[in-house]
Amino acid sequence: MNGRIASVRAIEILDSRGNPTLKVLIELHGGIRASASVPSGASTGTHEALELRDGDKTRYGGKGVRRAIANISQIIAPKLVSISATRQRDIDKLLIELDGTKDKSKLGANAILGVSMAVARAAAKSVGQPLYSYLGGIVGTRRLPVPMMNVINGGTHADSSLDFQEFMLVPHGAPTFAEAMRYGAEVFHALKARLGKLGYATSVGDEGGFAPKLRDNEEACRLIVEAIEDAGFVPGEQVAIALDPAASAFRVDNGYALWRMGGGKTTSEELIQLYSNWLERYPIVSIEDGLGENDWEGFRKLTERLGNRIQIVGDDIYVTNTKFIRRGIAERTTNAALIKLNQIGTVTETIEAIEMCRAAGWEFIISHRSGETEDAFIADFAVAMGSPQIKTGSLCRGERIAKYNRLLEIECELGDTARFKSPFKSH
Ligand code: PGA
Ligand code: ZN
Repeated sequence: MNGRIASVRAIEILDSRGNPTLKVLIELHGGIRASASVPSGASTGTHEALELRDGDKTRYGGKGVRRAIANISQIIAPKLVSISATRQRDIDKLLIELDGTKDKSKLGANAILGVSMAVARAAAKSVGQPLYSYLGGIVGTRRLPVPMMNVINGGTHADSSLDFQEFMLVPHGAPTFAEAMRYGAEVFHALKARLGKLGYATSVGDEGGFAPKLRDNEEACRLIVEAIEDAGFVPGEQVAIALDPAASAFRVDNGYALWRMGGGKTTSEELIQLYSNWLERYPIVSIEDGLGENDWEGFRKLTERLGNRIQIVGDDIYVTNTKFIRRGIAERTTNAALIKLNQIGTVTETIEAIEMCRAAGWEFIISHRSGETEDAFIADFAVAMGSPQIKTGSLCRGERIAKYNRLLEIECELGDTARFKSPFKSH
């Protein structure tokens, strides 16, 4: 009986934005206990699996997750009792069938994912392995991902003046993950000093990046380059820039509107031209969601224009769903995909999305959500998947640092066998 599921339940906890989310608690026969907490996005893709919220305005403005929790105790738990936790695929399949909808709206993707992750954790414990080696098997467990650190926040993640959501550091020239963290943290502090000197606010947004009222989006790139230099690094060689404009948020009709910056309406073509101009001026290695989630043709043109020089990442357009990633591969929509467990709702389906990217020769990036918890599941998951990159926020805020600190610990545990290999060339 050891290793078989004895009980599954969940409690309502808070995420990093002060909104409710759920934490699943699982117990196996033999006494092993494990848990997992579910994150929550703000700039969500339309086709994401559904996050079930109560809608009861008398609690948390309708954002409570008691219904999802009840679904776990009343519908999911009875079916999982006595199944071995190591049967991840079978359990995920069962969860999908129990739900029966395309977008997991019956039981809630938050309920399903919480259970799926907690099962993985309990299983790892039951076989006496760290989560990253349990999920990765022997071969996939030595690579540490290059971090993408979101140091300036805009869009729906901050009330800064920026239409573009994320301006990230990519310390790709570092020799190890630990050194990449040092590079990132030193630039983060240099950026804070520079912002302060210029009289800008140094308070932070949802993902721990600064949220200043800058003159325009481009000033963010300029300040980051200056901060990289201030910290004594060579822009483009040791530390580069990645962007996530999250353009679905400023999509209007069939164009885009950079309202916060006081700009008017622009076309896909004009946005592509803007990115192309920025490539000449800044050491940008990756652009995620440079266009909106329904602008497949715009994305294709962007990839055609810039895809041989930089990484073009799809987030909202794919929502970690093989149905959309398959189309993206066929149409050369991008050359990389962002991977978020809660966009699709189970560990197994997330792994399938990654396998599809890998088979196509695409890059992929394991990602947090803007609403997070202290759960560092994605750190282990990134190593397990041999992920070339991870995106998990800035160099402050505990829920972001929890993932980085877990990766530092894994690198240490792997010792000489740890590998840190950047997918990016120097500029
Ligand atoms: P979200 O943002 O978690 O608010 O969706 C992250 C992203 O767009 O990558
Ligand atoms: Zn994104």
